Amino acid sequence: MHQFWQEHSRDSSLQEMMLDSGALQLTREDTPEILALLPSLERQEVLELGAGIGRFTGLLAGLARHVTAVDFMESFLMQNRQENGHHPNIVFLQADVTGLQLPSQSFDLIFSNWLFMYLSDDELRNVAQRMLSWLRPGGHLFFRESCFHQSGDSPRAFNPTLYRTPAEYNRLLTSAHKIFGDELYGFDLVMSRSVQTYIKRKQNRNQVCWLLQKVSRNHEATRGYDTFQQFLDSEQYAARSIQRYEWVFGPGFVSTGGLETTKELVSMLSLQAGQQVLDIGCGLGGSDFYMAKESGVQVLGIDLSHNMVELALERAQKEAGSLVQFEVGDATRRMFPEGSFDVVYSRDTILHVADKSTLFGRVLVWLKPGGQLLVSDYCCGPRPWSKAFTEYVRQRGYSLLTPQEYGQVLKEAGFTQVQALDRTERMLSALTQELQELEQNWERFVQEFSEDEFESMASGWREKLQRCADGDQCWGVFYAVKPQ
Ligand code: SAH
Repeated sequence: MHQFWQEHSRDSSLQEMMLDSGALQLTREDTPEILALLPSLERQEVLELGAGIGRFTGLLAGLARHVTAVDFMESFLMQNRQENGHHPNIVFLQADVTGLQLPSQSFDLIFSNWLFMYLSDDELRNVAQRMLSWLRPGGHLFFRESCFHQSGDSPRAFNPTLYRTPAEYNRLLTSAHKIFGDELYGFDLVMSRSVQTYIKRKQNRNQVCWLLQKVSRNHEATRGYDTFQQFLDSEQYAARSIQRYEWVFGPGFVSTGGLETTKELVSMLSLQAGQQVLDIGCGLGGSDFYMAKESGVQVLGIDLSHNMVELALERAQKEAGSLVQFEVGDATRRMFPEGSFDVVYSRDTILHVADKSTLFGRVLVWLKPGGQLLVSDYCCGPRPWSKAFTEYVRQRGYSLLTPQEYGQVLKEAGFTQVQALDRTERMLSALTQELQELEQNWERFVQEFSEDEFESMASGWREKLQRCADGDQCWGVFYAVKPQ
């Protein structure tokens, strides 16, 4: 690689030259978008890998306490130093990242733009391990690469770039781990999304960035998978399982009552055109397309399941307008600036979140004063539960509260006008209808899937009905407002 860059670096504005002139403009435009996705850099120590001629180095130095800018090309670093050397808090380091030695646990953020796509899988695994060592626990890794999506758009041929799908990057980075003392550390996803500048200007969604966090691996919570995200993507929200759910719930939905309950719930909100909505656990985005179409609101849908977001993005391409954006994001790790949203919306998702108080505390901050929260969620009846229900909840990894407890959590988080509604009867009628339609359309379902899958869906729905009848399973709808 060094040789490649050597040959191409006679003019060290090479990195910009390799882009067509339109893209040169884009690289300037996407800079603020990228910086806005970083965690707060105040008093933070930053390591920039593949710093090149310094498109980001000076900007990072303006925000952080200290920046270590690493690149293996002397000429790039020279130009970087010329541009940014006046910042007293930058150290320039000429080194190859695949052999780089740095003190362990000494950085809060590692930043890298267009570097990993030049590394082989083995090199990237090696660098991932090193990065886990250099970062402090809780520290973040931000990177951005040119990717390709399987849906057919062919990558620009440019040796020696290694185009990967976003899923491949995800897998490579989150499977790395490193042991410190008794503790095993790895990367968990905070968010991953396409650079919107490229989508808006070029309908190109192949510029993808990630924010990962170094966390202590807890195999209890991830059920033997590397991450909770993998658990979701491999089990409940495996691609085929999503398709089966959608067949029953209706196009775009993976939750109780599909479009019908969505219409009922959305009518509890007073949505106005131009408002900003966050959908936590957006799934396939059915609610988001509906809200955008009906009310002209702008929606950001985030979902931890990679499978869900891939499908949502495909559908977004078919839906007219650009009011809806999606990203792979973990609601429990993602941060937004204070007062970012008019409405936070979430359907049958927070059952997956154990620490609801912390999440709702954050949601309160993300909302504008007077902003509205609307949630539907699986809930439970009073304990003790039946053995079957206890086992179901354990196996799914759900964390359930009674509707009343749920309302209490919202009040304690600081919300006002809290309505905590036990709507189990609504869930029952939706389940009954869904089961009926499934049974009436046996042939169509079996043609698309299989008899075994029909049986497992139908018995799943019968069991849900039974659990509701037993008083173990409930469905709650929650409305609350952030105080003015
Ligand atoms: N709200 C959608 C999907 C409901 S299924 C609908 O109504 O159709 C629940 C969704 O929550 C899944 O897509 C799952 O991937 C997502 N999810 C679970 N934990 C999450 C987390 N921590 N952050 C974001 N999404 C999460």
